[in-house]
Amino acid sequence: MENNTINKGNQYIMSSYARFPIVFDKGEGVYLYDTNGKKYIDFVAGIAVNCLGYANAEFIQGVTDQLHKLNHVSNLYWIEPAVEVAEKLAQYSGLDQVFFCNSGAESIEAALKLSRIYSQKNKGEDCYEIISMNQSFHGRTMGALSLTGQEKYHENLKPLLTGVKRVQINDFESLQSQVSEKTSAIIIEPIQGEGGINPVDKTYLQKVRELCDDKDIVLIFDEVQTGIGRTGELFAYQQLGVVPDIVTCAKGLGNGIPIGAIIAKKKFSKEFTPGTHASTFGGNGIACSAAKVVLDQLMEKGLLQGVKESGEYLRSKLEKLKEKFELIEDVRGMGLIQGIQLKTPVINIVLACMEKGLLLVSSGANVIRFVPPLIITKEQIDEGISILETVMEEI
Ligand code: PLP
Repeated sequence: MENNTINKGNQYIMSSYARFPIVFDKGEGVYLYDTNGKKYIDFVAGIAVNCLGYANAEFIQGVTDQLHKLNHVSNLYWIEPAVEVAEKLAQYSGLDQVFFCNSGAESIEAALKLSRIYSQKNKGEDCYEIISMNQSFHGRTMGALSLTGQEKYHENLKPLLTGVKRVQINDFESLQSQVSEKTSAIIIEPIQGEGGINPVDKTYLQKVRELCDDKDIVLIFDEVQTGIGRTGELFAYQQLGVVPDIVTCAKGLGNGIPIGAIIAKKKFSKEFTPGTHASTFGGNGIACSAAKVVLDQLMEKGLLQGVKESGEYLRSKLEKLKEKFELIEDVRGMGLIQGIQLKTPVINIVLACMEKGLLLVSSGANVIRFVPPLIITKEQIDEGISILETVMEEI
């Protein structure tokens, strides 16, 4: 069917996304409605972003109140919401200081710069190498892309940043073999989100932590996708018993209002002195008012506890599907970031579910990723999973 919005979109917006032919109009809770009035249950949440779902009353109130007061003044001055959010992030993370930016990729750039500045000032000019992981995803800016361990994203973009080495996750020997006096930082996603929902072993991470301590290497956890409550703790590392030197976050922090941040130990954060790094919009009033509501809901109003329970429930439902369908090879994840790996590409299942009113997103060709709003209830999980089950029976 002809759709004017889609036609105009194709004419005026660059084609860097393969969009599904749906035009969304509004949302409520975990449901989205398209312009034809069709209702969808959303297991995508704007790709692990909308933790409070849609039209959340506290969120609307918090952001609207701030809009009435002030939106943006730049980082030439102080504003209360930014300081309040920074204090909360530092306290809840067990780290010390925050730098605000606007997206996941920008948080990676900030972590990259902070670690290089630290290493070059303290260990020498030659200490600039970063080790990242195969199958990782860190974003699309040139620095973040250079760390990303998936060749398909590098096509036609070389040369990338020099001094990046890549190793396989959970293979400590291979990591050790790449470490030298030139190693500035190691960057790891505790669960690889775009790369197929691949969790990293706790014991591996503990060994990496020891290695970094031993050689004064900066350990960065990229929690852009796993952070802000998605795994059942504010950060995934809080379940793994390993504290990074720098953690990056974005997605869930603003519930859809763009905001990113790094949180670092003082030993490293103190290297960001005036002039070393900046972002015009970073930490503006609107973004920080959104983050304030998100952190309040998660940490003070019991949402985090809810994620633990609903995450376990979702996991048990997916395990049951695996018992029923031979097509499912594996179930993996933590809290409300779960994935099922199929023996075949998942696109037809994603499309058939969409047709029946369930939104899903893949993670690579063979994995379906489940990252619903964190407010999802057990009944709503049942509702979505029963659509998936019907589709899998039909297929
Ligand atoms: N890091 C991780 C782990 C991500 O999943 C993503 C985005 O999916 C990014 C970084 C980049 O974030 P953004 O798209 O906000 O730049």
